[in-house]
Amino acid sequence: MSPRTLNVYGVLLDKTGQPDTPATKAHRVALLAARRAWASTEVPVGAEPAVVTGEAPSQVHEYLVARDRDNERVLACISCNHVVSGYRAHYKSGLLSYDASMGDLPGFFDPAVMLDEPFTLRQYACPGCGMLMASEVVACSEAPLEEVRFK
Ligand SMILES: [Zn+2]
Repeated sequence: MSPRTLNVYGVLLDKTGQPDTPATKAHRVALLAARRAWASTEVPVGAEPAVVTGEAPSQVHEYLVARDRDNERVLACISCNHVVSGYRAHYKSGLLSYDASMGDLPGFFDPAVMLDEPFTLRQYACPGCGMLMASEVVACSEAPLEEVRFK
């Protein structure tokens, strides 16, 4: 079993190579709990709050919904509705993160062979439910990548 099958998707296989549903369910509960123990992401929020729109919640990203909360438009987890950031903020500022081994990537080729700087597989999860929201391969010294910013 590949590390990605086990650690990212949380699928466990039985002796015949078929998914072991009870073991997979138990493993996924443990994976989500482990992600909820990751560190807070260190990134400046860097945005003024967006005012409420009065509009219904709408999906704006694969894992994010924009919705009103009190006097502010915010971004919330599509799975558990946990507010991760203001609408205009770097959404990863409200996520938990973990620098995983590059060996967790399928077809892993260690970039250290060609580069002087170490790289990492940085992963981001919702603090509310542990759902994996983003992954990026970056130099260990790099700040979290800002893939989207709403105006
Ligand atoms: Zn969530």
